[in-house]
Amino acid sequence: MSMVQFPSPQENLLPEDIILVESATNSQDATVLDRIKGSLVGLAVGDAVGASVEFRPRDYLVANPVHDMMSGGTWGLKAGKWTDDTSMALCLASSLITHKGFNPYDQMVRYKWWYKDGYLSSTGYCFDIGKATRDSLEEFQRRQNQLKKLFKCRTQSDVDQIPFDRIKAIGFDINCSQSGAAGNGALMRLNPVPLFFYRKPSQAVDLSGASARLTHGDEVAVDACRYYGALIVAAILGESKGDLLSDQFCQIHMSWFNSQKLDSDILRVAAGSFKKRRGYDDGIRGKGHVVTSLEAALWAFWSTNNFKEGVLNVINLGDDTDTTAAIYGQLAGAYYGYDKIPNDWKDKLYANKLIVCIAEWLQVLGQPDTQPVQRQRTSRNVSAIQQTTNHIDVNLQSSREFKSMISENLQQNHHEKSSKTVPRYPRSGILIQ
Ligand SMILES: [Mg+2]
Repeated sequence: MSMVQFPSPQENLLPEDIILVESATNSQDATVLDRIKGSLVGLAVGDAVGASVEFRPRDYLVANPVHDMMSGGTWGLKAGKWTDDTSMALCLASSLITHKGFNPYDQMVRYKWWYKDGYLSSTGYCFDIGKATRDSLEEFQRRQNQLKKLFKCRTQSDVDQIPFDRIKAIGFDINCSQSGAAGNGALMRLNPVPLFFYRKPSQAVDLSGASARLTHGDEVAVDACRYYGALIVAAILGESKGDLLSDQFCQIHMSWFNSQKLDSDILRVAAGSFKKRRGYDDGIRGKGHVVTSLEAALWAFWSTNNFKEGVLNVINLGDDTDTTAAIYGQLAGAYYGYDKIPNDWKDKLYANKLIVCIAEWLQVLGQPDTQPVQRQRTSRNVSAIQQTTNHIDVNLQSSREFKSMISENLQQNHHEKSSKTVPRYPRSGILIQ
């Protein structure tokens, strides 16, 4: 009965083989949809272009500047394949979509699936992971072992599926970060949260911070995500580049921050520390501390006037190239929109149809009064997917046909539970209610 067929981790299904289901985007604002798609695809494109030179120092990039999306290099990936930044963002998006909301326990479960089983990895396994993220996920597994005993779970799947309200009720601490974790590993995967909650900016900002705290507990990492989440929301809502990069941004949007002041380092960035004409020569760096990365991404956005040039400039700073470009791409993609991302990059991007489909579902399900949509399946056929949007009846909930479909699916589900063929981990997706 699920719709977007996010696989179970044990199926080892590669992202490109995931069945796509069209969302009811015909009832959505097309301009906003273009920005949401631009942001999620922008993240993935930045990651993919930067992947071939990840960890290369500035000197190497000066001698060998990146001009395009290339194969090979650091990870030996085919052009268009992406790394941990996109995998984790897709894990986060899959959780928001599946639970129609913010479930931090499930987010950690999915990050763990990626780390251990290669869930939503472009290669089928986790080949790169930041230290803070790895430490947090190891700690999470230790805490899950305690949950397993406490809830008398028989299998790991049972533990992974404990409802969040039951975990909350026993005071389980979901934030697994060690103290002082201030890398860019939460900022790089952030945008599914503001893309899902953009209609309620203060909630989007608050949950942007909460999403970071799971793996990066330092206040500067949390506040980098709150500030950047606010910028992404403002871009989705159509604010001008001048307004986004204004040193008055936080003051103007004070109500979005729920009176919780930002860390002083983030306030310094928001006041314009990234506005350095000479870029690298003025101190802009592509390194992995969250403040440095934030500055680099904003510098690239501020100093260029198109998506492509900004991606290339931030990558050619060197060092953590894929992540600084992924951070840049989240905001620049939201601002310029999906149509303005170079077509050849979008075409080469691995599992691009899945990423676009996920962006569409984030928009549809983020709407508070979303009505269920009719089950429509296609297999990796975008033109067919687009056709189905015209046939979705958003008022199906009250129809007889819909009720009979639910009943049929419930019976089928009951049958599947007693079948030996049911996967140990059930698939997750959008449930029709
Ligand atoms: Mg990466």
